[in-house]
Amino acid sequence: QARIRDRRGFRFYSAEMTAFANERATIERQLRRAIADGALELHFQPQFEVSGSSVVGVEALVRWTDPELGVVEPERFVTIAEDNGLIHPLGEWVMRRAFTQFISWQAAGIAPPVLSLNISARQLERIDFVDSVAALVAETGISPQSLEFEFRESVLSDVAYVVPALEALDRMGIRLSIDGFGTGFSPLGNLKTLPISKLNIDRSFVSGIGSNQGNDTIVRTVLGVARTLGLRVIAEGVETEDQAVFLRNEGCDEFQGHLYGQAVCGEDFVRRFARTRT
Ligand code: C2E
Ligand code: MG
Ligand code: MG
Repeated sequence: QARIRDRRGFRFYSAEMTAFANERATIERQLRRAIADGALELHFQPQFEVSGSSVVGVEALVRWTDPELGVVEPERFVTIAEDNGLIHPLGEWVMRRAFTQFISWQAAGIAPPVLSLNISARQLERIDFVDSVAALVAETGISPQSLEFEFRESVLSDVAYVVPALEALDRMGIRLSIDGFGTGFSPLGNLKTLPISKLNIDRSFVSGIGSNQGNDTIVRTVLGVARTLGLRVIAEGVETEDQAVFLRNEGCDEFQGHLYGQAVCGEDFVRRFARTRT
């Protein structure tokens, strides 16, 4: 029983819907505070080349444990932050924190080659976004060539205001990739015209490998599109050896997933995945 209208058109909401709306309001209030207090955290997940022997990158993933709400999933609070504009300070915090962490790993000689960050298409709407990235690059001293920005597939549809920003990031030397590839209905032609260098096959397709033909065909098609356009491909959510074998045989370039390593805090990342000092 979701929403019921009476004859005059008044709407009645169920108790669950009221609870959901209340929870959302609480998340908004607490998230604003968490960002201001610097109470968010970052976790880091390794990205491997397909033999599994070397870490080629690390993805920073935001984490939030609220005193009142407990752990809130990033999918949930990032979506809310995108709706209410908090994504701008949140994204800025993630960038500064991730850059700083990565720079300290580089100074210690233990950084992987690439730092990947998730950037919301909403962040590109701010005309000063590229300038703010450039300012953070200057402030932290990170090399833009070691950065990769992951955008959800919808960025391919929002092309009008997105193009100049993506091109400016590309000119800075930052690599751009499409996250969750295959889940949207975006115009593939834009893959060719935008400065995209990598596709991230969505976890939902990787988890379906071997379970049905249609799914395997989608994975092969994504790899085929990538090969045709000269793009690299990373498979996300690789959890089993069978998935890894299939993807390796089909020409996938990189893996990320629990088979190789979950997202962990900075210290654990260093302990488990850091390149040994040379
Ligand atoms: P994503 O960018 O596609 O990140 C990969 C997600 O898959 C992460 O979830 C990661 O923990 C999870 N994952 C990786 N390997 C496996 C696996 O083998 N099995 C399973 N079941 N899961 C795996 P997480 O950290 O919950 O993040 C969810 C999404 O939230 C991210 O998806 C990204 O879209 C968004 N997100 C996370 N951090 C940020 C951020 O700092 N900014 C923005 N804008 N979005 C973020
Ligand atoms: Mg990502
Ligand atoms: Mg992804």
